[in-house]
Amino acid sequence: MKPLASRLEQIIPSASMAIAQRISDKTDTGRKTIDLTWGQPDFDTFEHIKEAAFEAVRSGKNGYTNSSGIPELRQAISDFHASRYGAAYNPHAEIIVTPGVKQGLMYLIQAMVDPGDEVVLFEPCWLSYRDMILLNGGIPRFIPAGGSLKPDVSGIEDFINEKTKAILINNPINPSGYVFSRSELEFIAEVAEKHDLYVIADEIYDRIVFTGFTSLSVFQNLRERLVVANGFSKAYAMTGWRIGYLLGCERILSKVSLIHQHTATCAAAASQHAALAALKGDQRLIDEHVEIYRRRRDYLVEEFKESIFQIVPPDGTFYAMIKVPDFLRNVTNKSEYVLEHYGIATVDGLSYGQSARDYVRISFAAGMDKLEEAVRRFKKSDKSASVERLSFSEIKKPH
Ligand code: PLP
Repeated sequence: MKPLASRLEQIIPSASMAIAQRISDKTDTGRKTIDLTWGQPDFDTFEHIKEAAFEAVRSGKNGYTNSSGIPELRQAISDFHASRYGAAYNPHAEIIVTPGVKQGLMYLIQAMVDPGDEVVLFEPCWLSYRDMILLNGGIPRFIPAGGSLKPDVSGIEDFINEKTKAILINNPINPSGYVFSRSELEFIAEVAEKHDLYVIADEIYDRIVFTGFTSLSVFQNLRERLVVANGFSKAYAMTGWRIGYLLGCERILSKVSLIHQHTATCAAAASQHAALAALKGDQRLIDEHVEIYRRRRDYLVEEFKESIFQIVPPDGTFYAMIKVPDFLRNVTNKSEYVLEHYGIATVDGLSYGQSARDYVRISFAAGMDKLEEAVRRFKKSDKSASVERLSFSEIKKPH
């Protein structure tokens, strides 16, 4: 048979899906696995949001919508973004509602990248970016992280050449929870301008922050070259509703709209009405959840202080990177080891780039009972570390 498209050859399956498979395998063996892989809130979508969707369905709002999204939702997104960040986007030409942020990002890369074009990204980063770029014939250029996985912002120009088309920045960062400072963003904006680059800003975790946050949309010099992707999955616990949006200038979004029209047509109508209710509803509900994430984060940071596993304290998101102790450095798959030996499911750091190879990612979108049990198991491993060091047969000799 003829081979499938060659662009699929470099694509790798999602690391979290692979570990999900391993977790279900694991439950047969007796000890209950603590699943800390979750990339979604551990609470349900708020009732008023669900009600808005039921109401939309019952009242017959079940057809295709305007491809860019129902006008009320685009207006609400524009108002919300302007009031939060002071950046105005015209709801008629500068906003597209998409079936999730993921799809919006795919559109952007498709719209900006020709085969052979390079896209610069900071490690560690969400690995779907890599595959989206490769699927469009582009080349991802990863900037290795510095100590404690800090993005090497000052080193960015070393990774830019005549083939570079765009910078893709995720702020706050999945997996490390790093939040870029205003001055770092200002520098990135200057670099983009100087080298005539597009900027894609994935700000999906902008609401889940424990510190100040600056949206790239505040930098006016980026107005014609920036598109911000954001959505409802994380802040409003709406991962299954598949709803997000893009904010950017008309020159770019009018082209992105062509891709959207010919692929999804529009985001699901009921999800758009639900998203409208999310933005119009009481935003203090989000703050309450962020407070819960903050408490869990503080608990983990405190507990890991005394451990041979080191946490990188996150300033945003509901993830944290845990550095494994030295005796595990030569284990190829750290998350596999943590699962096998401690019964804790994590995502392997390598999924987020070479810089994160000595780390595993945990999610604290999980109840305190699970986090406490995970901490207990990590701590127990501290005590047995010396025994493990002698007995672990999978440790490969460095080469
Ligand atoms: N961007 C980042 C950094 C993410 O972590 C995720 C989901 O895990 C997404 C985008 C996807 O968001 P959505 O559910 O809106 O497609």
